[in-house]
Amino acid sequence: GGFESLNLSYNVYRAIKRKGYRVPTPIQRETMPLILAGADVVAMSRTGSGKTAAFLIPMLQKLHCHLPQAGIRALILSPTRDLALQTLKFTKELGRYTDLRTSLLVGGDSMESQFEDLAQHPDIVIATPGRLMHHLSEVDDMSLRTVEYVVFDEADSLFGMGFAEQMHYILTQLHENRQTLLFSATMPSALAEFAKAGLQDPQIVRL
Ligand code: AMP
Repeated sequence: GGFESLNLSYNVYRAIKRKGYRVPTPIQRETMPLILAGADVVAMSRTGSGKTAAFLIPMLQKLHCHLPQAGIRALILSPTRDLALQTLKFTKELGRYTDLRTSLLVGGDSMESQFEDLAQHPDIVIATPGRLMHHLSEVDDMSLRTVEYVVFDEADSLFGMGFAEQMHYILTQLHENRQTLLFSATMPSALAEFAKAGLQDPQIVRL
């Protein structure tokens, strides 16, 4: 079960090697084949486990190349600006040999510069829930209906920081044919209910 066995495109594989990853971490070994096969996945794992690459590598493989007309194709929700920035950095590194475009929608940056960014047809959006909601309410033609791949990262923190209502609203804006991933260190009951509402027959990975 090395990275070779996943049949990744060379552009993704090459970036993994350039990043210095030799073998998948346990969470990557368990989740990546399921995600690549199209399953919804609940992964119980903490920061430091390699969970970011576990959802980024299959995402880059699936999106493959920039499609200007397709709208936003992947959405990653992070509880904090710092985590979103870190995820952006990994996305750029692991996506360095693709032409995929990524926009960051977090508080603290100007809405204007984010509008300009969105006008460049990003394939991937990395967002905190509050700022994403702000964009959805301000921009009439901003839609999440085109999203094929959505990740709720550190979902217990998303809940713990009071974003439950926003997360449920975001679910209502997504197409039902999307693939949904939820990464969390813990599974409080409110989060389990959210997972039941937002994921279809999820595979559960506990490590
Ligand atoms: P994360 O749990 O996503 O915050 O990742 C923790 C650290 O592990 C980051 O510095 C990653 O770059 C690193 N990492 C992720 N996957 C691997 C891997 N397969 N081999 C070595 N390091 C990795």
